[in-house]
Amino acid sequence: MKKVLAFDIDQTLNIAKTPIPDEIADLLTRCLDHFEICPISGQKFDQFLIQIVDRLTDATPEQLSHLHLFVAQGTQYYRYNIEKKDWEQVYNFPLTDDQVAKITNAIETAAKELGYWEEDKLAPGDEIIENRLSQVTFSALGQKAGTEAKYAWDPDCKKREKICARAKELAPEFDYEIGGTTSINAITPGMNKEFGMTHMLEELNVTKEDILYFGDMTQPGGNDYPVVQMGIDTITVRSHEDTAYALRGILGVTE
Ligand SMILES: [Mg+2]
Repeated sequence: MKKVLAFDIDQTLNIAKTPIPDEIADLLTRCLDHFEICPISGQKFDQFLIQIVDRLTDATPEQLSHLHLFVAQGTQYYRYNIEKKDWEQVYNFPLTDDQVAKITNAIETAAKELGYWEEDKLAPGDEIIENRLSQVTFSALGQKAGTEAKYAWDPDCKKREKICARAKELAPEFDYEIGGTTSINAITPGMNKEFGMTHMLEELNVTKEDILYFGDMTQPGGNDYPVVQMGIDTITVRSHEDTAYALRGILGVTE
């Protein structure tokens, strides 16, 4: 039997950038009694709290001790300290200032050349390019844009494929991955979900065969694809509804 259930977040556990729905919160809480639960996504730690942890209102400290947060594609890892009743960072692999500057320049230049730099559509105080320490993230309409606008911006990923291709020409030493609905994550090669999953194996002292992974971008070029390439058992979902369906099945045979 699997020991670990690992999850992409956006579009796998939720509607991109929003807190997980009640049903997913309930299913994850129940799963914490049977599995180590590992969300892994390009988001920042704060977003893991807002989107997942704060929604697990019924989870006990004992249950939370089985939740492992693999932040920024697993280049940062947080676990719950039962005694302190708080999250603690276990490791962090940040980019250098120079790397951040090079990536920012490449993506901004690419988006501007292609006419996809939508600065006029940003909410006050919002930003298109964000330094998430272990990666730099482009969000075409900013972090605060509405879900509908985000879905409409690049449903077939074509705009982002072009930005990625041009940015790769401008700063080829980095990798550019499409994620969420309007995002591109730029990382140093190897600092993708394979890096995170490899550290997950180490930190949880499990083998690949012990993990079942859920993701929505498992196609080549998608940010879940490195997990598939590692040979980890993967369930491709279209939305959190598919994930809920699978989790109900898993709990049906475990509980
Ligand atoms: Mg996703």
